[in-house]
Amino acid sequence: MAFKLTDYEAYDFANRRHIGPSPREMADMLQTIGFNTLDELIDATVPPAIRQKEALDWGPAMTERDALFHMKEVASKNKVLTSLIGQGYYGTTTPAPILRNILENPAWYTAYTPYQPEISQGRLEALLNFQTMVSDLTGLDIANASLLDEATAAAEAMAMAHRGARSKANNAAFFVDKNCHPQTIAVIKTRAEPLGIDVVVAEPSELDAGAVFGAIFQYPGTNGHVTDFTDQIAALHEHKGIAVVAADILSLALLKSPGEMGADIAVGSTQRFGVPMGYGGPHAAYMATTDKLKRSMPGRIIGVSIDARGNKAYRLSLQTREQHIRREKANSNVCTAQALLAVIASMYAVYHGPDGIKAIAQSVHRKTARLAAGLEEAGFKVEPEVFFDTITVEVGHLQKTVMEAAVQRGINLRKVGETKVGISLDEQTRPETIEAVWGAFGIDRKDDSSNKQYRLPETLLRESDYLTHPIFHKNRAEAEITRYMRRLADRDLALDRAMIPLGSCTMKLNATIEMIPVTWPEFGNLHPFCPADQAQGYHQMIDDLNDKLCQITGYDAISQQPNSGAQGEYAGLLTIRNYHASRGEAHRNVCLIPTSAHGTNPASAQMVGWKVVPIKADANGNIDVADFREKAEKHSDHLAACMITYPSTHGVFETTVQEVCQITHDHGGQVYIDGANMNAMVGLSRPGDIGGDVSHLNLHKTFCIPHGGGGPGMGPIGVKAHLAEHLPGHPEYGSALGPVSAAPFGSPSILPVSWAYILLMGGAGLTQATKVAILNANYIAARLQDAYPILYTSESGRVAHECILDTRPLNDEGGVTVDDVAKRLIDSGFHAPTMSWPVAGTLMVEPTESEPKDELDRFCDAMLSIRSEAQDIIDGKIDAENNPLKHAPHTVRDLVGEWDRPYSREQACFPPGNLGVDKYWPAVNRVDNAYGDRHLICTCPPMEDYAEAAE
Ligand SMILES: *Cc1c(COP(=O)(O)O)cnc(C)c1O
Repeated sequence: MAFKLTDYEAYDFANRRHIGPSPREMADMLQTIGFNTLDELIDATVPPAIRQKEALDWGPAMTERDALFHMKEVASKNKVLTSLIGQGYYGTTTPAPILRNILENPAWYTAYTPYQPEISQGRLEALLNFQTMVSDLTGLDIANASLLDEATAAAEAMAMAHRGARSKANNAAFFVDKNCHPQTIAVIKTRAEPLGIDVVVAEPSELDAGAVFGAIFQYPGTNGHVTDFTDQIAALHEHKGIAVVAADILSLALLKSPGEMGADIAVGSTQRFGVPMGYGGPHAAYMATTDKLKRSMPGRIIGVSIDARGNKAYRLSLQTREQHIRREKANSNVCTAQALLAVIASMYAVYHGPDGIKAIAQSVHRKTARLAAGLEEAGFKVEPEVFFDTITVEVGHLQKTVMEAAVQRGINLRKVGETKVGISLDEQTRPETIEAVWGAFGIDRKDDSSNKQYRLPETLLRESDYLTHPIFHKNRAEAEITRYMRRLADRDLALDRAMIPLGSCTMKLNATIEMIPVTWPEFGNLHPFCPADQAQGYHQMIDDLNDKLCQITGYDAISQQPNSGAQGEYAGLLTIRNYHASRGEAHRNVCLIPTSAHGTNPASAQMVGWKVVPIKADANGNIDVADFREKAEKHSDHLAACMITYPSTHGVFETTVQEVCQITHDHGGQVYIDGANMNAMVGLSRPGDIGGDVSHLNLHKTFCIPHGGGGPGMGPIGVKAHLAEHLPGHPEYGSALGPVSAAPFGSPSILPVSWAYILLMGGAGLTQATKVAILNANYIAARLQDAYPILYTSESGRVAHECILDTRPLNDEGGVTVDDVAKRLIDSGFHAPTMSWPVAGTLMVEPTESEPKDELDRFCDAMLSIRSEAQDIIDGKIDAENNPLKHAPHTVRDLVGEWDRPYSREQACFPPGNLGVDKYWPAVNRVDNAYGDRHLICTCPPMEDYAEAAE
């Protein structure tokens, strides 16, 4: 045989770790597909015209030891001071059991978004706890399961108000409280402009409620003011306007809630509930609203439903799935959010309970009161008079002196205007910290923590309860909460148990070694607005990562600001929009998007104010070039861009991609290539070479950041040189162009994952990974093609890194739906492939390079067995309704009690592919989605239900 073992020796251990099949297995697999070598397969699959000319090369791959050593060296260039800068980011302590059992636990961080509720009951419960926590603290009816950051949450709230307000016919202005954080105001402005919304920034007292469709207020204000907005909100409501309130989640333990002020929407960050600052992210933002507005709330919402046996079961509620259906009419483009961080924040609340949270809030406040008193007694003027955790001190010409003196004592303070200094205390502030701050002001004083004075506004004290649900009262003992987290994790199927063959989502290995630096304090404990000289390590890492991503993509510049793929789309389109405007072509507003595109594409185009013109697919699923040309010609004068995905969302390397790019350019448009499928391209082909002007990369797909059960992610964009000056900026960097995210580098504390991956693999290793991803997909296609037609293949009969299995014939002939197949896979211990996208009634399988042959075979065996069960139905051998497919998935309860089905319990629970004694048991039978949508419940159900479910 032509395949030689020595071919493999170039790849080191890390490399082999990332690549599932052994050389021998690969040889077998190639034989199954009908090729002698991997390169022959690749040559037959990837069109020669799009192959990259030069191999990726930045020197040899690093060993694990070398990579960690190097990363530590770079990380050490970050200086970890105590940051009392505030402005939305605060010191916090991640409780150790949560750090170890969630943040560092692959059972939690390698899970996918809970679209398949039966295998996601654990994280769904944790996210429901999050929603309950937010809803309680904000005093509003319903909350979602996280947004990307506080600033984008505020912008989403503005868009929601715009949709929901009945007064918008009269005006198009949105009022923004001057006391909002600067980055919040900046992101609101960025998002408002393309939608034609005027932003009025002023003091709340200056609000003209009749002149706006909505308003956002913030408390505590960015400089510490705690204000009651009840009157402004009432005035807005009189004019049918919508009131948004941004609030600090911890302060709500002591202060009257937004709901009690009458707010329609509340937004904020849950960072200080146990999530490190991480130089800006990731953290979970929250949004809560009233029953009246719940249908237009963006993001994912967990709801309660029942399963086939009538037992309580959680699932994502209706509007979550709506985005992919509503496309350019969708409420927002939020896809990947911040699930893992929301889980951590919710566990922080479970761990501390309402009394603990209140104690933390009180302690933070009392420390601030003591700090203020010390400053005042020394003669400094402190604002405001009443506050929660943030004060501003007038220092006149001493600003620089005080701030430098603080830095010398290991503390960062905030520069406010030219004559003031801002200070925000937090859970971690110790008496020594307070004394050091005094020291920076030239005050020699001992902190007396027995001094229990309060300086909260009397009229704004919270009287209502929160976190009353038993779940926030049960788990005070570490033994109990540890078991609670373990129980929830065990209900879920994540990558640490089985392959998750989700087409387009690239659920590949998140190697442990890549996760190690994430929790280093040098990356975790930096404030996003700390002085630049304290973040040299971050900047070196980001520069090096960007360099390599430029080589990989063929682009000239990278922006690391977008913190999800969809955010990247928005940022990329905004960049194109800025570019057109700079050339006096601001009228270009038409975007061509194939009908097969991911739902976020049209949703993002809509957000920059563009008109979406859909492009048909031809019979082979490819872009219909004739249709494309016709639409481009028709809209030539107004063509802004096209948005295409490569390889296509049908899992094929289309040969016409360059032609499509050329047509777009000929008509003055720019080409956006959705980079979600880069796992099929790295080292073989570069979007920048085939005609792309911009692409986002999903670092949480191709570049190994774990999916976290629905986030975090990073969606940096690469652009060609002519677009570089039009990329999003950030007020902290004095840029003229507005930001798309709260923090300058999005969620930088997870970038070490992608950086480590690239360092460990090297150019050759990354290229090998791509080849094996293609091999694995073609192997599955070869093994399953007789049982399930492969919907689309290239002219050479090959698929790219994923393949679409057509299950529609089973439905036509036997009434077996794609759902039945997906749920039956759970009995074999698999997460279903991507269901009904991009083609309804089909499954899209993406195995990735990480899966060894055994796991691929286990999956194929399960799929073939399902096919033969379906055949029994088609042949009339078993009832069309009462069969293992329709009743799937089966739970441990199916092993006991009455059994009146025409198949055995053994067949039900132990189909091919299951792992015997290690078999995965789902917590619930099939979940009834329609029931949940009819009875929308989005906070924790009463405790009796838990007891019932546990029985
Ligand atoms: C995942 C994906 C996106 C969206 O990325 P998020 O990070 O979830 O926002 C966009 N396009 C395609 C093709 C995708 O697969």
